[in-house]
Amino acid sequence: MKPYILLTPGLLTTSETVKEAMLTDWCTWDADYNVHIVEEIRKSLVALATKQTDEYTSVLLQGSGTYCVEAVIGSTVKPGDKLLILSNGAYGDRMGNIAEYHGINYDMLAFDETEQVSVSYVDDYLAHNAEITHVSVVHCETTTGVLNPLKEIAHIVKMHGKKLIVDAMSSFGGVPLDVEELGIDFLISSANKCIQGVPGFGFIIARKSELMRCKGVSKSLSLDIYDQWETMEKGHGKWRFTSPTHVVRAFKQAMDELAEEGGVEARHQRYCKNHEVLVEGMRSLGFKTLLPDAIQSPVITSFLYPNADFDFKSFYAQLKERGFVIYPGKISQADTFRIGNIGDVYPEDFSKLIEVIKECKY
Ligand SMILES: *Cc1c(COP(=O)(O)O)cnc(C)c1O
Repeated sequence: MKPYILLTPGLLTTSETVKEAMLTDWCTWDADYNVHIVEEIRKSLVALATKQTDEYTSVLLQGSGTYCVEAVIGSTVKPGDKLLILSNGAYGDRMGNIAEYHGINYDMLAFDETEQVSVSYVDDYLAHNAEITHVSVVHCETTTGVLNPLKEIAHIVKMHGKKLIVDAMSSFGGVPLDVEELGIDFLISSANKCIQGVPGFGFIIARKSELMRCKGVSKSLSLDIYDQWETMEKGHGKWRFTSPTHVVRAFKQAMDELAEEGGVEARHQRYCKNHEVLVEGMRSLGFKTLLPDAIQSPVITSFLYPNADFDFKSFYAQLKERGFVIYPGKISQADTFRIGNIGDVYPEDFSKLIEVIKECKY
């Protein structure tokens, strides 16, 4: 049925039932589709993000995850404000790129890609730079698989009284968190990561009181999160522009399947088990992980090339032929490849992967 299993988050392996949900051509403005599906999704997303559901709302936005990151930065940081970006990988750096495009006043604290964002450094920086109004950080840096210490970072940012923007693209739905407890003002994720939907839109969990201050800030029409929210709110699930109906249907199915699995905790357990089977198996074959276990997320794992002659293309092709697709590395300081643990994939799949790797030449 499946030509191969994707172990490449980003796009990941989805269930047959998620794919089947896309087989009907839904009408955008039909009551069935709008009122029920979009509103249910928006409510369930807030409920996944916090117990204090009254204080938060959600906005769905067409495009990939980056569109939502750009939309949040462009709709929240006003002239006169200053953004501090914490980066230890490509997705943190991308926020800097976004700030450049928008001419936003910002500073970037760059950390090594194989280390977590340093909480004491951030504390010190904020203590000496009172002009900072917003701080943004990536929760799980998918570049390497580092899980940043979100709780500690959030605590420091809030202690200094700054607004907090979190790119939780590759962790939301798969790593437990509560936006209200952490004090997060805007959290961003997308359909095709831990919720296990297909790509086509992203979403923002926003503190209502902060979202209200975004009116008129964005210089982009299609990336204006306030305008998008207002239309969805007043129109009971209406999208401003053509809605990705098939993707939304698939996402609703994926949300139901997350609940059936037992919610975020249960999914996190499965991802941790996937990761454990993968890493134990790879280590038994002599592979080494890029990161120490203490800072490694259960989302994606980077492995060092096993020897100087290692040919990733050949390794990739051998695995693909046997039913598994993996990712190349994304950092410059070491030769790595990456294997994802998220999606509709189970510990058995990773046991099978290890057996398959044993048969490969590398
Ligand atoms: C996937 C991802 C994004 C968004 O990437 P797109 O290609 O735009 O979907 C952003 N940040 C992180 C940490 C990610 O993993």
